[in-house]
Amino acid sequence: MGCRVTGRSSEVPPTVRYVDSLGSRREIQGEWLVGADGKTGIVRKHFLEPTAGIRQQAGVYPYEGVWVASNLKLTVPTRQTHPDFLLWKLGYTPDEVPPGKPTATGRFGPHADRTWRHEFRVDDESDGPIYSEELLWEHLMPNITLERDDSRGHEFERPVEYPRDCITIMRCRPFKFVHKCVDRWYDKRTLLIGDAAHVFPPFAGQGVASGVRDAHQLAWRLALLLEGGGDPAHRPGILDSWARERRRSVDDAAMMSKALGTVCNNQPTLWIMAATKVLQFLHSIPSLRRYEPIAIQERSGFRGVDGGFFLRDYNGGARLAQIHIRSSSPSRASLLSDALLQQGGTIFTLLVIGNGDAKQRAWWYSQAKAAIAAAALSPRIVSESSVVIYNPQDAGLPPVSDTASGLNGKSVSTPEVFSPVPTSEINIPLAPGYNSASYLGRFGWSTRFVIARPDLFVFACAKDEDQLVHCLTQLKRLSS
Ligand SMILES: Cc1cc2nc3c(=O)[nH]c(=O)nc-3n(C[C@H](O)[C@H](O)[C@H](O)COP(=O)(O)OP(=O)(O)OC[C@H]3O[C@@H](n4cnc5c(N)ncnc54)[C@H](O)[C@@H]3O)c2cc1C
Repeated sequence: MGCRVTGRSSEVPPTVRYVDSLGSRREIQGEWLVGADGKTGIVRKHFLEPTAGIRQQAGVYPYEGVWVASNLKLTVPTRQTHPDFLLWKLGYTPDEVPPGKPTATGRFGPHADRTWRHEFRVDDESDGPIYSEELLWEHLMPNITLERDDSRGHEFERPVEYPRDCITIMRCRPFKFVHKCVDRWYDKRTLLIGDAAHVFPPFAGQGVASGVRDAHQLAWRLALLLEGGGDPAHRPGILDSWARERRRSVDDAAMMSKALGTVCNNQPTLWIMAATKVLQFLHSIPSLRRYEPIAIQERSGFRGVDGGFFLRDYNGGARLAQIHIRSSSPSRASLLSDALLQQGGTIFTLLVIGNGDAKQRAWWYSQAKAAIAAAALSPRIVSESSVVIYNPQDAGLPPVSDTASGLNGKSVSTPEVFSPVPTSEINIPLAPGYNSASYLGRFGWSTRFVIARPDLFVFACAKDEDQLVHCLTQLKRLSS
């Protein structure tokens, strides 16, 4: 918004001074101050380092390296601009001219923009000043020069260079990449997220995603803290669990960067080649992809984190799978299952797992409502509107809602029922091995009720009403 924060006048409540887009000096006060101001931002460096001693320190994967990072914009050569270009003789059209072999390179932005990035490490090669553009061309030329086009089976009579004047350098300069993470994520009411909290080397592209995860897992906790009123210092578990979960996630991302960095930066050893073959094999067979290290990590979520915000004994900490679902409402629009967590407008969602039998479903629904009433949480945290019914069998077009005998023999109408879209009816490309059964698989097969966090993690799974009341009571204890 064109404003620049220049100082902090109070820690609690956090109050910062800033200069607005017109140059006027102003002040703003809030309940919380979230420093999302990058690796050199003012919140960590000037507010938290001096007062709370919070610092970024080497993470699980110590790394330091200088890289030249460039952003390039390509145009295509045409018969008019490059009449002597060799590939015209071989019948290529301008759009078919291959730009070269990728190294640490990739496209970004809309495809039609032809924007590319190209990055390479330089600190091993030179101690003096870094002439980024010269180094870039030196590095780029072999990658944009082809002797053959294997896809067409053409062996060129001489090497074909992608014309240099079709490549515009938008940015090219050295960057120092390190891996670091803060030793504490917050002090009093000031928190750090994104690069202000952690930085990564470039091998796994984890910087943006990690910052989004910080925010996603923080937002509902701040809502909980604001909801409870009173001094958040009396409920340190809410933010401590965030810091513990985030640290695990940052460490996992760093280890992935390390694995990819080892492959990128070294001559392939026998060990690397063997590991690559095993991974390629697992990846080539859809039913085996579940054994890939990233898939295993994804499934286990935060289960291994001590002090996370979930009940480990009730399968809490697992991460929800993402599948295509549709509702029993007449429109039958297809949604991603993440949308189930936004149905009720409450912080947590209570999924009731049906079994295709409408009467049973209505009975479990009435049990869920009774458990919510018994636990008596704030209605903004969990209420009757938090209940979402998921029926793993898509039995054609069910009624919009079920009516059946509930507790006390009273008639109960359930809300709409959601079911997986049959794979044959999904009209967009699916990940190989996609299987909607993985949604239930993350909960354990005998689960009847799932208390889900808004950030796609399970708080607890319950097999029956008694367990559900217990889990909701624990949720109340942890939230207040
Ligand atoms: C060359 C390079 C390549 C990268 N490639 C990738 C990649 O492929 N994938 C990936 O995921 N990540 C990549 N990253 C990392 C990624 O850019 C960062 O992780 C990400 O931008 C961090 O987001 P952020 O919002 O935390 O911080 P930033 O993007 O740094 O944003 C911080 C914002 O805060 C503002 N700000 C700072 N101080 C103040 C102040 N006093 N008052 C008001 N506003 C302020 C800044 O202007 C800025 O807009 C790369 C980084 C570099 C340098």
